[in-house]
Amino acid sequence: MGGPEIDRLIGLLAKLPGLGPRSARRAALKMLQQPEMRMLPLATALAEAARAVRPCAECGNLDSQDPCTICADPHRDRSVICVVEGVGDLWALERALVHRGIYHVLGGTLSALSGLGPEDLNLSGLISRVVTGNVTEVILALGATVDGATTAHFLTDQLRPTGVAVTRVGQGVPIGGALDVLDDGTLAAALRGRRSA
Ligand code: ZN
Repeated sequence: MGGPEIDRLIGLLAKLPGLGPRSARRAALKMLQQPEMRMLPLATALAEAARAVRPCAECGNLDSQDPCTICADPHRDRSVICVVEGVGDLWALERALVHRGIYHVLGGTLSALSGLGPEDLNLSGLISRVVTGNVTEVILALGATVDGATTAHFLTDQLRPTGVAVTRVGQGVPIGGALDVLDDGTLAAALRGRRSA
């Protein structure tokens, strides 16, 4: 079409979630037609985010400061930790304004299928945060999938010796559903309806 630069750009865009080859071509064309307005600001934002954003050493959230903005916020309730599979779930809960405590990002769920074991997830960090902090409740906000349920059972067993209250988000999370696709009202109901794990 128009040289290897364009092919490379479209190829990279097409690998992004939600973009196939067709929408990648449209996005590339839009940017190429307005390089000053669309392409250069995006290139700068990409480079700056890649340079500055890191996982929080405490909770696993992505932020340009460490500890992250949430962990460093003195107004958050540090006695309640909400455990999520990924940062996308944390974003969904923050958007819905339903959790005023802090978070712990596992970085996945236990999965026999994809061979993910306890050592692949950020689990030991959670146990030590519960043991060393003044934590009274751990909310397991995991998707209603087989892997989510397996992970919830595993965490409940692991946390039992610490004596902390462990709860699971309740109704509203559809079977097989992930948290970050839920609307805010459903998320709020799921968190309010949590029950002892
Ligand atoms: Zn954090």
